[in-house]
Amino acid sequence: GDINGNLVPEKKENGGVKKDGDGVDLAEQSLLNKLIRRTLVRNRNQVEVQQNDPSSPLYSVRSFEELRLKPELRRGVYTMGFNRPSRIQENALPMMLAQPPQNLIAQSQSGTGKTAAFVLAMLSNINPANKWTQCLCISPTYELALQIGQVVEQMGQFCPDLRLAYGIRGNRMERGVKLQEQIVIGTPGTVLDWCTKYKHIDPKKITMFVLDEADVMIATQGHRDQSIRIHRMLPKICQMLLFSATFEDSVWKFAEQVVPEPNIIKLKREEETLDTIKQFYVVCREKEDKFTALCNLYGSLTIAQAMIFCHTRKMAAWLAENLSLEGHQVALLSGELTVEQRAAVIERFRNGKEKVLVTTNVCSRGIDVEQVSLVVNFDLPVDLDGNADNETYLHRIGRTGRFGRRGFAVNMVDSKHSMDIIKQIEMHFNRKISKLDTTNLEEME
Ligand code: ADP
Repeated sequence: GDINGNLVPEKKENGGVKKDGDGVDLAEQSLLNKLIRRTLVRNRNQVEVQQNDPSSPLYSVRSFEELRLKPELRRGVYTMGFNRPSRIQENALPMMLAQPPQNLIAQSQSGTGKTAAFVLAMLSNINPANKWTQCLCISPTYELALQIGQVVEQMGQFCPDLRLAYGIRGNRMERGVKLQEQIVIGTPGTVLDWCTKYKHIDPKKITMFVLDEADVMIATQGHRDQSIRIHRMLPKICQMLLFSATFEDSVWKFAEQVVPEPNIIKLKREEETLDTIKQFYVVCREKEDKFTALCNLYGSLTIAQAMIFCHTRKMAAWLAENLSLEGHQVALLSGELTVEQRAAVIERFRNGKEKVLVTTNVCSRGIDVEQVSLVVNFDLPVDLDGNADNETYLHRIGRTGRFGRRGFAVNMVDSKHSMDIIKQIEMHFNRKISKLDTTNLEEME
């Protein structure tokens, strides 16, 4: 090993290397996505719809007008700047607003408009004149619950008697006191306690149950069972809605347990491609040499914005400092930052305040910065066994077809092993990665 810890991949504070299936990490990832996203993700794929009753007509809407929303809600929607329903909303909204109520399981990647859709459904569902809880919405974490709450506040800003409560730990009331808020958003444990132990909510009066981020939910110990227990207390006529960004078998099984007789909507994520990327590798010796190669790139190319990936926090910090000393405006995204701080760093970079973003992989999953023209793998992506991590490679440098912007990827090779990794990646994607001589950069132009 390396005495400086350079071979140790960045770890999360809880000491575990980040992996899917860890509910805390997934929830953080999801929160980061929400904090940095202000627009819909573009997706040209077709929505797949499976109706519970295949003989009933399939409605989809092209405008919010067609939904006959209450005027105060229509105003809320337009005030948020929404002109027309997103792809998933076109199908989901008519089902969610249908009379009699229909159950729905919907899957699409983050940023496609799921939250906005179910918030609109909750706001349409409630009767503000009734001073009891009518909608229950559960979410994997406190922070995610607050994000949903903000959308409720915004979209419901013209609904005068609307009130919202957060069923999250630390929100305490006397046992037996009934809530008057029509909507409760919270985490499964607290919401369950409020329905059972504390009797703040009468589950029999709930007319809509929303379970958000089902995939994140079941990755967290206990959340699955708590959700099922809440579900069991609800009346048969209660409308059940479940959302998830991904749909593995485990999510699917869970979904079927909490959503009887569902309509199902799926939107495949748009594939990333390497077709619009020119890929290179540079042979170097050690980190100083890689740094020199990087400076040579900057010396001879006009680079709008670049993202540089390192394997460890320590390497990222070293590189960021040296780039700064060379006069670059550098943003450093590193694991010791809170999710909010990370979101702020990404936001600054997006707005062009810094031209270079140095990051470790842990921090940068799920970030897509469209204007980035150069991605540098200062360290190549490897899995825990030291093999090429193709998925991460694609994710770092791939683009979705729509953005189509051309870009460059430069991989720093510093050993025979890393040369092998380049070969593995080349084979895997069947796309050439060309050797680049950074002292002679004509081939890149
Ligand atoms: P998801 O829940 O699938 O992650 P969101 O509902 O949070 O997606 O939507 C992602 C972003 O797109 C948010 O910033 C949201 O305000 C915005 N958005 C949602 N629906 C629309 C729409 N119909 N038109 C424009 N923007 C929208």
